[in-house]
Amino acid sequence: MENYRILLYYNYVHIEDPEAFAAQHLQFCKDLELKGRILVAEEGINGTVSGTVEHTNKYMEAMRNDPRFADMVFKVDEHDGHAFKKMHVRPRNELVTLRLDDDINPHETTGKYLEPKEFYEALRDEDTIVLDARNDYEYDLGHFRGAIRPDIKTFRDLPKWVEENKHLIEGKRILTYCTGGIRCEKFSGWLVKEGFEDVAQLHGGIVTYGKDPQVQGELWDGKCYVFDERISVPVNQKEHVIVGKDYFDGEPCERYVNCANPECNKQILCSEENEHKYMRGCTHECRVSPRSLYVKEHDLSQEEIQRRLDIIAEEDKVKQEA
Ligand SMILES: [Zn+2]
Repeated sequence: MENYRILLYYNYVHIEDPEAFAAQHLQFCKDLELKGRILVAEEGINGTVSGTVEHTNKYMEAMRNDPRFADMVFKVDEHDGHAFKKMHVRPRNELVTLRLDDDINPHETTGKYLEPKEFYEALRDEDTIVLDARNDYEYDLGHFRGAIRPDIKTFRDLPKWVEENKHLIEGKRILTYCTGGIRCEKFSGWLVKEGFEDVAQLHGGIVTYGKDPQVQGELWDGKCYVFDERISVPVNQKEHVIVGKDYFDGEPCERYVNCANPECNKQILCSEENEHKYMRGCTHECRVSPRSLYVKEHDLSQEEIQRRLDIIAEEDKVKQEA
């Protein structure tokens, strides 16, 4: 039953008192029985929420009636239930955490907006390079064919990565993209400010690109990581090339799990089989953690844990000898 929806949206617009707005907006969302995460800052709003078709429609209507959000674009996905457990509306200093000394206002400085069809054509142009503006674990599940993978765990590390890897992108036409477009608004603006001359961004992000009737997600490989319970969504409607690799054996894999050691919690791509084999632990230390959630969920005895550790140790020995 697809009677729920997930909304993804942002708008860079001045919000006078983010704290007061957030408190009021939280109540409004709760009254509509929405669940999700919304960030509010003086520079605007960034949200993703789930709810019934009726409630999400009411939400969009109410937002559009507010002159500040009248032109806000909502990306809408059908779903069979909520995609979040709770409703949060949080005041923040920034909508996306970059912590630049000199902040970027995307209304003043940003890369050229490319619609999906234009982006698709630019992708096929030899003089362009494509720079993924997301984190490494997002890239690893799926990305545009040939895109550069910045080796970063969080968005605020991206400017430093560019400074250290200038040679990769200098003198070329630079295309950037992210999930819904909000990160690129600032990041492409930062690139422009840094003196890169030809900078363009995918308008509406990967999510819009995948739904576009003309391009239908073409030249995207893998899936798109999303920050809700779905974890990933399909993009390319024409072909599906798996690029994710199992953390343990390198086999094609698109299934993310979190390491069972709560102190680690690392996200790893892992098949169901390997999840059980390795007790969802990314290292030996994580597997033997006394707090392992996997051990708790499956109520494993010490004997059973040892049995599985022995199998792993035996295999490691064989691998080393080979
Ligand atoms: Zn771990």
